[in-house]
Amino acid sequence: MAPMLLRYSADRRTMAWAVAMPLVALAPYAWPSLATWLWPVSCYLALSAGVIAHNHNHCQTFKSKRLNSIFGQWLSIFYGYPTFAWVPTHNLNHHKFVNRVGDATITWRYTNKHNFPMAFAFPFIAAVFQSTPTNEYIRKARATKPALYWEIIRQYVVFVGAHIALISLAVGLHGWALGFKLWLLMFAVPAVFALWTIMFFNYIQHVHTDPWSEHNHSRTFTGRAMNFLLFNNGLHTAHHEMPGAHWSMLPAQHAKVAALIHPDLVQKDFWGWCARSYLLAPLLPAMGTHQVGRAPFDDPSLVDGLVTASVEASEAGVNAARV
Ligand SMILES: [Zn+2]
Repeated sequence: MAPMLLRYSADRRTMAWAVAMPLVALAPYAWPSLATWLWPVSCYLALSAGVIAHNHNHCQTFKSKRLNSIFGQWLSIFYGYPTFAWVPTHNLNHHKFVNRVGDATITWRYTNKHNFPMAFAFPFIAAVFQSTPTNEYIRKARATKPALYWEIIRQYVVFVGAHIALISLAVGLHGWALGFKLWLLMFAVPAVFALWTIMFFNYIQHVHTDPWSEHNHSRTFTGRAMNFLLFNNGLHTAHHEMPGAHWSMLPAQHAKVAALIHPDLVQKDFWGWCARSYLLAPLLPAMGTHQVGRAPFDDPSLVDGLVTASVEASEAGVNAARV
């Protein structure tokens, strides 16, 4: 892809991933025995399609509007949902309310406890509640924005049509049993994995954080491998503070605010954090996460009534008072 079409040269890597998505997912259509080895790679690429779609939706990849629309559609085939849905559920909802009342993806809907069953169930619960802003967005588009409405319809038609074509191709090449299995393994399972994992990330990036705080509203993961593989998706505090910034700029933004974030909310190792939160914390609760500062359902003035010397000191005070 000629870099001149891209707004940021860092997106040459995005392009390489976008090209790898169909190559990996379709290779077993030609050599079915590869499916055993390649389906986990397809799961990873589907997840990166979701992460790239998130980035693309905040900060468009191409200079051309038409290419941006095609690219969003391309990604949707791999991560499993038409790309317009990011606008009502993420940009206009999650970024506006940040885990407070009104956010369809609040982490504390039934309990503020953090454990594996809650984290596992969260994506399914969030999907149900996200359907409200999504349907409302479609209804409004239908009533007042016909061009947007037809764009939404087009995205659904292309998405469903692409999968019908992918199933037909697999079945045409290998018959019903093997063909359908290949589509399931290489496209359907990776898409379900991607959608679940994107929402799981949403959960762990906000559970037990303080949405009223300037810098403690999110949990950040700084591990280099994870941020390389997922296009800096771990740097969530920086992302919420500069949602329109290109993903390649997040490390610089994170460096600026890192010292201002509560240390519990900056984790280096994603897997270590998961092991402590989900394997060790059930036995040793101290290993789990604890609410930092004010919970989303708390009165935000709590901190203001305390020490005013520094926000960090007063937040630490609230935190200590609650332990
Ligand atoms: Zn975002």
